[in-house]
Amino acid sequence: MEQDFAQARRLMVEHQIRARGVSNERVLAAMREVPRHLFVPEDLRYAAYGDHPLPIGEEQTISQPYIVAVMTELLSPEPGDRILEIGTGSGYQAAVLGRIVREVWSVERIASVAAQAERNLEAVGAANVHVVVGDGTLGLPERAPYDGIIVTAAAPSVPEPLFDQVADGGRLVAPVGSRHLQDLVCYTRRGGDFVVRSWGGVAFVPLIGTYGWEV
Ligand code: SAM
Repeated sequence: MEQDFAQARRLMVEHQIRARGVSNERVLAAMREVPRHLFVPEDLRYAAYGDHPLPIGEEQTISQPYIVAVMTELLSPEPGDRILEIGTGSGYQAAVLGRIVREVWSVERIASVAAQAERNLEAVGAANVHVVVGDGTLGLPERAPYDGIIVTAAAPSVPEPLFDQVADGGRLVAPVGSRHLQDLVCYTRRGGDFVVRSWGGVAFVPLIGTYGWEV
């Protein structure tokens, strides 16, 4: 069984991710290594390596593998980096990042979702990933600055507090737009300025909080 999952993971990386243009070898290696089937509900494990998001309960989702890869590549993670994720969900994106960087902090709004993510992360031995329950639109200022910030829920605009928490040279990746369709944007900090580029259209569940959407 584990061998089948490992084979499915290799095919996922080659056909869904590398074939669509993701070329960062650290990202590809991490996604070959992290057992995605341990981040989805048990009755959906058979579908864990499909080319789509999956439900994880509480009306939340684990993102499509390709989108996880694209967002991780946009973040340009380096081994010494400290990363902040907003929207822990299943913990999968954080685990992928945890394979590449020194330390990941991840904030989740729903306590039961965060608790399941912690169990998932423990099951795969992701000891450098830390989950915090709270409103991630405020960031996590007590651990700032971060070399990268990744928002994995749809924001009406980038939450203002996050800009202050990115280190110089750091990246901030977020889906920004309406509740149903967003543009994936990547900001890079250059001193007091940010250079922005757009990747294209994505669809995430809403970011709910002080600097996000109302419930
Ligand atoms: N990164 C996740 C993964 O790898 O499974 C997928 C994230 S899921 C698409 C979006 C998550 O963002 C949900 O779990 C949701 O509860 C969470 N969320 C929404 N608003 C939030 C907020 N203000 N702070 C923290 N988490 C939030």
